[in-house]
Amino acid sequence: MENFNVDTLVIGGGIAGMQAALDLADQGFQTALVDHEPTIGGKMITLSKVFPTLDCCSCITTPKMSSVAHHPNIQLLTYCDLQSIQESDSGFRVAIVQKPRYVDAHKCTGCRKCEYECPILIPNPYDRGLGAYHAIRVPFSTAVPQTAVLDMDNCILCGKCEKVCPTQAVTFTQKPETFEVQTRTIVLASGFELTPLEAKKEYGGGLLHNVIDPLMMERFLAPTGPYGRVLRPGDGKEPTSIAYVQCAGSRDQSLGVEYCSRVCCMYAIKQAMLISGALPMAEITIYYMDIRTFGKGYEQFYQNAQAMGVEFIRGKVAAIHEDDQQNPVVKVELTEDGRVVERTHDLVVLSLGMVPSPGSAGILELPLGDDKFISVPAPNARPCHTTRPGIFVTGTAMGPMDIVDSIISASSAAAATSAYIRAHQNGQASPKPQEEAVYA
Ligand code: SF4
Ligand code: SF4
Repeated sequence: MENFNVDTLVIGGGIAGMQAALDLADQGFQTALVDHEPTIGGKMITLSKVFPTLDCCSCITTPKMSSVAHHPNIQLLTYCDLQSIQESDSGFRVAIVQKPRYVDAHKCTGCRKCEYECPILIPNPYDRGLGAYHAIRVPFSTAVPQTAVLDMDNCILCGKCEKVCPTQAVTFTQKPETFEVQTRTIVLASGFELTPLEAKKEYGGGLLHNVIDPLMMERFLAPTGPYGRVLRPGDGKEPTSIAYVQCAGSRDQSLGVEYCSRVCCMYAIKQAMLISGALPMAEITIYYMDIRTFGKGYEQFYQNAQAMGVEFIRGKVAAIHEDDQQNPVVKVELTEDGRVVERTHDLVVLSLGMVPSPGSAGILELPLGDDKFISVPAPNARPCHTTRPGIFVTGTAMGPMDIVDSIISASSAAAATSAYIRAHQNGQASPKPQEEAVYA
């Protein structure tokens, strides 16, 4: 890969990064979008439907992925890690490592013949490990780019993929390649991770067979999911009683996650409604402390779920253990009368919170806030400006938010980036006085 210059480098190919890149590229700015995964799409491409409209996530995300790939002003850099960043006269010089795919991206047509021949199956991270994929594969059917990637850690070097590939694209000797991007601005959209299940010891610490995280349930509910239906991962049984435990990993001092993650109430309600459709006879219970429905149409969505028969129980879940049938037993203190009761379910979903993705904050030398997300010094006046002039932040890299707000935030970051580039084109080399006050 040759070194090249752009107006902006967007870090992260989830919904926020893609939206920011498209907004900037549509304005004529030369844009590079870099992602550490072999495909863009982020977490959103793995979700089933969005609240409160219940639109299909793939139907929203896939066209954006395709637009990014085909936009004449966007250079797409997948399976790349940031190595270092240096300030330069005209912005930033960013060193990037292209990780080896062991497949020549220029030759690969995405035909997947290699994948069908490969004898090795490994847990598929896009299915949260519930399904499997091959050691060499195109990550999923709508991946962008449609280029195979080989997992050398699990490959047994049998050579079957190399033999069957019609374009001789498989190359076992590929090495990491470093190149530099000179950019005037950076937009950080590195996204989020879930609070790890292991951190919730009182809820089984990730060891109970039928206690899962919400992204696993998204895969059960997605048409592209591993089983095409909702099953208990412990024994493959169809569950007839499913419970959600709210605030499992948010508003929790013991985990250092004291904030509300904002999306958990809504995704739990959404999943409950989708399960009602998929398993009409199933009983669905949501244990909550308070339900937060802050967005447009969210309160009505909550009321619709109640009308559909989803049971909402106000109380604090103190512990979960499992019985000898692998059924999770939930111990809950009911808020209304203070009683502590135990209820047995087939499957429990922990409504885990959002924590920042390890991402690139360290390399970009950006300070973090008390919540460990990227610090935004003037969130009301300049919601996407970081402490470093020329570096902007968007989406869940700055704090928990839902998809609607991520897209709004991405367009806001693109507008701020565009204004910054134009100001510098017009010779305003340093921030204006009010900007200095913000950056101080
Ligand atoms: Fe799979 Fe590796 Fe054999 Fe290729 S060489 S088919 S990736 S095990
Ligand atoms: Fe097809 Fe070869 Fe690419 Fe595999 S590596 S998808 S066989 S072109």
